[in-house]
Amino acid sequence: MQSNSLTLAARYVFPVEGPPIEEGGVTILDGRIAWIGPLGARRPDYDLGNVAIVPGFVNAHTHLELSALKPRRAASAGPENEVEWLRRVVEQRRTGTERAARGAVTRNLTASVAAGTTALADITTAGLSWRQVAQAPVRGIVFAELIGLHRARGLQTTHEAWTWLARINPQAETGKVRAGLSPHAPYSTAGWLYHKAVSGRLPLSTHLAEMPEELELLERREGPLRGFLEELGAWDEEWEPIGASPADYVRKGELRQADWLIAHGTYFDPSEFWQFRPEAAPSGQRVAIAFCPRTHARFGHAPHPYRALLERGVIVCLGTDSLASSPTLSVLDEARFLYRHDPSLGGALLLTMATLFGAWALRIEATAGSLRVGKAADLAVVALPDRDEPDPHVLLFASDRPVVATVFQGELVSGSWKTATGA
Ligand SMILES: [Zn+2]
Repeated sequence: MQSNSLTLAARYVFPVEGPPIEEGGVTILDGRIAWIGPLGARRPDYDLGNVAIVPGFVNAHTHLELSALKPRRAASAGPENEVEWLRRVVEQRRTGTERAARGAVTRNLTASVAAGTTALADITTAGLSWRQVAQAPVRGIVFAELIGLHRARGLQTTHEAWTWLARINPQAETGKVRAGLSPHAPYSTAGWLYHKAVSGRLPLSTHLAEMPEELELLERREGPLRGFLEELGAWDEEWEPIGASPADYVRKGELRQADWLIAHGTYFDPSEFWQFRPEAAPSGQRVAIAFCPRTHARFGHAPHPYRALLERGVIVCLGTDSLASSPTLSVLDEARFLYRHDPSLGGALLLTMATLFGAWALRIEATAGSLRVGKAADLAVVALPDRDEPDPHVLLFASDRPVVATVFQGELVSGSWKTATGA
């Protein structure tokens, strides 16, 4: 064995593409996975003990620049009204400084990496988080937000986004992080901004079919969201939606030519689900749904159709959304929450949603998202409970044991081998 290689041993290794390996090992060489399998007679450099080695988690939807917003009412008072919550997020963004936002990005990146995240999709104002994400031990996409029903507001965010793109030159080789654009949502963002976003030939992300109030606005130009926008001075009497269905925002005309990472998607019409299958897309286009289970629960929405979507072959991955709606930025916490509410989903599929499906949505599956020889050594090491289970995925998800180490491109970037081994 070459001297700069590192072999880790664990009670379980979860390659994702393939069944869990008991008493498994992973060898890292030059930042990549050089070997994976049952340890057998190999001598590891570190025997991490009662832990799982899994691919680094992929957070397919977050806003690193946002800070926590405490629920206005006690959880016992029932779910929170999402339009009321939006009011408070807008307040945070209007009163907050750029310095505060950068501070949040720094804190939230550190917390994400500590939670085992090695790839993420971040939506940010005018590319604000770009440099910090590019310097952090994560790969993924930074999306600049486009927003505004009024033409002036839309032009302002477009100008800011393109100024950022010109500065960073996203067409050049930027390594592990790519630039994207994110028209915010149909209720906040004029149709022309969606078309403008597609013209940038970059990966795109948007919030779609997020709440019933959005459907009401698209169908009838009425409802609580209109009242909210009028109050903000953001409503435009001339506004025409791209279509009466949120799905129109990713399928009409040239809008079908881009990759779309869709946040939420709770209220898509089931008859439209098949259109999100990879096979239904024109050649090359990728559409994926980023489901954020704890944010979804906070607002008491109708059940999320992730199972119906998955059954039709749609790629559903997991996101945390921001700290404004979720208690942590841990994808594992999201997966565990979902597992508690729906154990029959199956741990193998759940782990795939938290890793490989997110990697596919970010177009990094050739490099990350599973443990395979040749892929980057992006790993999360998760402590396991002291018990046995017929399905080892249960040890990962029916547990509150922490992530004890994170490895990015073969480097230990959070935790230590000591904590992993309990030494
Ligand atoms: Zn969001």
